[in-house]
Amino acid sequence: MSDTLLKADLPTQRLETAIPDLKPALTRDQALAEANRCLYCYDAPCVVACPTDINIPQFIKRISDDNVRGAAHTILESNILGHSCARVCPVEVLCAGSCVYAEKGEPPIMIGKLQRYATEYAYDHDIQFFQAGPATGKRIALVGGGPASLAAAHELRKAGHETVIFEGRSVPGGLNTTGVAPYKYHAEDALKEVAYVQAIGVEIRTNTLVGRDVSFEQLASEYDAVFLGVGLGPDSRLGIPGEDLPGCVGAVDWIERMKTEAGFTLNHVKKAIVIGGGNTAIDAARELKHLGVEAVTMVYRRGETEMSGYAHELAWARQEGVAICYWAAPAAVEGHTHVTGLRCARTQVGDDGKLHVLNEEFVLEADLVVRATGQEKLTALLSGVPGLQIERGRLVVDAETGQTGNAKYFAGGDCANGGKEVVNAAAEGKRAARGINSYLRHSGSPSEISVTIK
Ligand code: SF4
Repeated sequence: MSDTLLKADLPTQRLETAIPDLKPALTRDQALAEANRCLYCYDAPCVVACPTDINIPQFIKRISDDNVRGAAHTILESNILGHSCARVCPVEVLCAGSCVYAEKGEPPIMIGKLQRYATEYAYDHDIQFFQAGPATGKRIALVGGGPASLAAAHELRKAGHETVIFEGRSVPGGLNTTGVAPYKYHAEDALKEVAYVQAIGVEIRTNTLVGRDVSFEQLASEYDAVFLGVGLGPDSRLGIPGEDLPGCVGAVDWIERMKTEAGFTLNHVKKAIVIGGGNTAIDAARELKHLGVEAVTMVYRRGETEMSGYAHELAWARQEGVAICYWAAPAAVEGHTHVTGLRCARTQVGDDGKLHVLNEEFVLEADLVVRATGQEKLTALLSGVPGLQIERGRLVVDAETGQTGNAKYFAGGDCANGGKEVVNAAAEGKRAARGINSYLRHSGSPSEISVTIK
């Protein structure tokens, strides 16, 4: 596969390259042995658990027959992002978590690792299964270059439409490139997947931010449909004193710089605090530990059972030496010219069932404080598009088609689901592509369109 894209867009001196892959690929013998354990279940629960409906028993059977090419085809025809999903999916709570072996208390089939084995084979051998369909003369604009847009664009291109992705960053791929923990997937791997999608003629315009470099009005007038795959906004703020001090950073922003910026360093950080209890907080804490920070502490307002991060990820974090301070609310970031610590207040759940911040404070020393308490919604960006409905920061879309309240606009991924997995974005992108195809079949010129979404 051509690696022109990688060389053009990603600097070689990046901090993430210091973090090794923690789940190495299977060898051929290992893959064959694991594939032969599969029971090839009828009505397989692993398939039901996969948002992209990959025929898992079929691809595993093909691996057991040493038909790795066929296995890759089975995966990629259902999910064109099967390469990244093999690495970043929380299989423990999706396919592998549903495997019949898990029910029997035995190790489930390593579905993610087998999927990696097959998709990497296709990439390594330059096998392209797909091609653009006969030209329809229709043009689709896709806003945001992340997983949802990539999945939608690929499906639309196969249907013969011209597809143009508008990406504000200098590198495409969205969170797969800028946000996934390096011990799962490196940015250059994400760009290989982008190149695979591009290979059938999907155009990507990087450094082109919709709302700044091109307007929504322009897209609406020049394209037959628009897909919104804009993801979420910047890291949420804490609203406490000291959070603008140097050394207090947002997790998503910090991870992006660590993965993509040339020469970005930790500046001799010895003690780090990560605020939050979700998967991004756990990722950031583990990454800091892998980068050699001596003391990493997660600070969370409630107890372990209330954490939204996956239990298996938290267990890894603990094993790697991350400390966790429960029942502590950040009160102020300490320091004068740079962060020196985090002042916290004790919390507890009162008799009324609500969380109470107690009058009992303590300071944890740190030279880096990472805010990982969520991301803002991009509602301001989208408020300029007439007809869109936004509820609790999410775009309201039709569950079958991904169509928004403005008939010409479709959406999927984090901006519509509030922030889920890559595999959800892939499924929603594909769903919207089907919706757009149907819309284009049944609509006349854009000015004649009027569809009401319930
Ligand atoms: Fe194979 Fe497990 Fe899926 Fe059954 S549930 S088909 S054993 S991976």
